[in-house]
Amino acid sequence: MAVKRDYYEVLGVQRTASQDEVKKAFRRLARQYHPDINKDPSAEATFKEINEAYEVLSDSDKRAMYDRFGHNAPNMGGGPGYDPFGGADPFGTIFETFFGGGGRQTQRGPQRGADLRYKMGISFEEAIFGTENEIEFQRLEICSACNGNGAEPGTTPTRCPRCDGLGEIRQRSPLFNMVTVSTCDMCGGTGYIIPMPCRTCSGEGRMRKSRKLTVKIPAGVDSESMIRITGEGEAGPRGGPYGNLYVVIDIQPHPYFLREGNDILLELPLNVAQAALGTEIEVPTIDGTEQLKIASGTQTGTTFRLRGKGVPHLRGSGRGDQIVVTRVVVPNKLNEHQRQLFQELEASLDTEQIGDEKDASFFQRLRNSLGL
Ligand SMILES: [Zn+2]
Ligand SMILES: [Zn+2]
Repeated sequence: MAVKRDYYEVLGVQRTASQDEVKKAFRRLARQYHPDINKDPSAEATFKEINEAYEVLSDSDKRAMYDRFGHNAPNMGGGPGYDPFGGADPFGTIFETFFGGGGRQTQRGPQRGADLRYKMGISFEEAIFGTENEIEFQRLEICSACNGNGAEPGTTPTRCPRCDGLGEIRQRSPLFNMVTVSTCDMCGGTGYIIPMPCRTCSGEGRMRKSRKLTVKIPAGVDSESMIRITGEGEAGPRGGPYGNLYVVIDIQPHPYFLREGNDILLELPLNVAQAALGTEIEVPTIDGTEQLKIASGTQTGTTFRLRGKGVPHLRGSGRGDQIVVTRVVVPNKLNEHQRQLFQELEASLDTEQIGDEKDASFFQRLRNSLGL
């Protein structure tokens, strides 16, 4: 077996070289020896050597270990010390330079976790004035035992031997000098394998856990309003970042108020006497009761607008209105005295006098059409 060359010698830098000098030397050499560019049969071995040296010397911890123990240092050089998550990714860097980025790197980067939806039921009043609710839900979190990399504590993921950490297999077709690229089937494209999976999460890097959160609901939300809470979704596989949590608002109906955008509708029943004679009546609003003057001769469907008694605007200031709609209710049960009063009323009212002039003419037209 050939003697391993000193990493500093491989990169051609002094032992005192700065990180920047190491990086520059690596980039220059990697360009020179990249197997797609350099057709010398020994180029590929040199390219690997350069990458291995850079992996150690670009990481201050690994470099310090190497300075003390040389190639005998534990976790050194592409073996079990390979850390897929930390430090620079020399392959990513160099492939970006050569192939102009492309999809490869995004494919290999840790995947973001799934977004979650949480349906939150709130009362009519809470939607109008805002509230703060504690929610509890289940989600996949980064495994605390392995920190998400899926390897049993004390062990580390190792570079995939089949693709050499690239996550893909490049094959050169001799016919057309074409390069075909396929995802490495040994590591599934991640570039590393886990020799001893974490026992806590079975190597998944994630665990289902219960999460408690206090969610602030702003004043003025409507049904189907969605509140995004960044980073409170699920953890990504193998240490990937968290997705988002979307809290979807579901407003419980109110016994007598009806929401219409930023306005609140209230149906106000009036008995025939109140409607005919007029009255002053107390109506409920979301802020308490309010006096309302009902003019004599008020009909069903007459509206009153109570300004600023509606729902606060979610964006900007101000509030909508409360709209009161009257409905004249005819009594369906009369006692003897009331019956007498209505009979007197009937006698005193002209048969054709239903309401105002318009109604009278309508009644006349109806009679005419019936040939009466
Ligand atoms: Zn784990
Ligand atoms: Zn592989």
